[in-house]
Amino acid sequence: MNLKNAVNLIVSEYRAKLSKAKENYRVALSRHKELYEAEKKLRALILDGAEDSEIKVAEDTKRDVIRSLGYSDEHFDPLPACEKCGDSGYVNGVYCDCVRKRAGRETLGHSAPPFTFDTSDLSVFSKDAKEMAEITYAKMKIFCEKFPHTKNINVLLFGNVGVGKTYLASCVANELERKGFNTLFLSAFKFNDLCLKYHTSFDNSRADGLNAVLDADLLVIDDLGTESVLKNVTLEYLYTVISERMNGGKHTIITTNLNTEQLGLRYGERIHSRLFSERVCLTTELIGKDLRR
Ligand SMILES: [Zn+2]
Repeated sequence: MNLKNAVNLIVSEYRAKLSKAKENYRVALSRHKELYEAEKKLRALILDGAEDSEIKVAEDTKRDVIRSLGYSDEHFDPLPACEKCGDSGYVNGVYCDCVRKRAGRETLGHSAPPFTFDTSDLSVFSKDAKEMAEITYAKMKIFCEKFPHTKNINVLLFGNVGVGKTYLASCVANELERKGFNTLFLSAFKFNDLCLKYHTSFDNSRADGLNAVLDADLLVIDDLGTESVLKNVTLEYLYTVISERMNGGKHTIITTNLNTEQLGLRYGERIHSRLFSERVCLTTELIGKDLRR
C-alpha cells in the first residue's frame, strides 16, 4: 500500500471511532437522566458566556457522572491510536512514522490468527504431551509479561506438525498487540517471498514491506523450513533481518518442525550461532500427536 492510502485509512478509522463515540454518548444521554442534566447545565453555562472556572466545575461534574455510571473516558472520547500525529498522518507537513508502518503492514497484510491465552485449552494435549505444553505455555506467558525486557531476545519454538506451534505463537502476538506493541506474523513462505521481492525490485512500497518487518516490536516467522531455499536470498535475509532486529532490541519468534540438527544443516552454523544460541534465544518445544486430526 502507498503512503497516501495509508493516511486515508488512518484518518477514516479515527473518524469512525469518533462517530461511534458520538453515538455512544447520544444513547447514554437518553438512558441516564443524571448525565442528561449534567450535559444540559454545561451547555447552558457555555451559551450564557459563564466564567471559565464555572465551566470547568460543570465539566468535572459531568466527568464524575460518566465515571460513576461505569463508562470509561475512552467510550465517549476516544484517543487517536498515534499520539504523535493524532491520527492525522502528518507531523509538521511530513508523513508520520505510523503511516510508514501502516503502509508496510497493509502491504504484507498479515496479522496473527485470532487465538489468545484466554481461549487456549491445554486439555487437548495427550497426557505425556500436556506437561511439556504447560511448561512451554508458562514460559511464553512470562515472555509476554516481561516484554520487551525479556531474558532472551529470540524464541525458537520446536514441534512436529499440528502440535499447536502456530496457535501458541499467535497467542503471544495477540497478547502483545493487546498491550499496545506492534507485531507482525508471517509464514516462512511469505517472509521468503517478501525478501525475494525486495531483493529483485526497487519499488518503494516493497521497501516499506521490509521496513515493517524490521520495525515491528515482535516478528513471528511461522513454520521455518517449509520455504524453499533461494540462492542469495533465504539464508542471507534471514540472517540480516533477525541480526538487524537484534541490534535494535527487537524480538523474533520462530516456529519450526525441524530439529536442532536439521536446522543447523539447512541454515548453517553462522545463523545457528548468532540467532539461536542459548545466550540470545529461548528454545522451547511442544510435543504430541497432530491435534488437527
Ligand atoms: Zn502518527
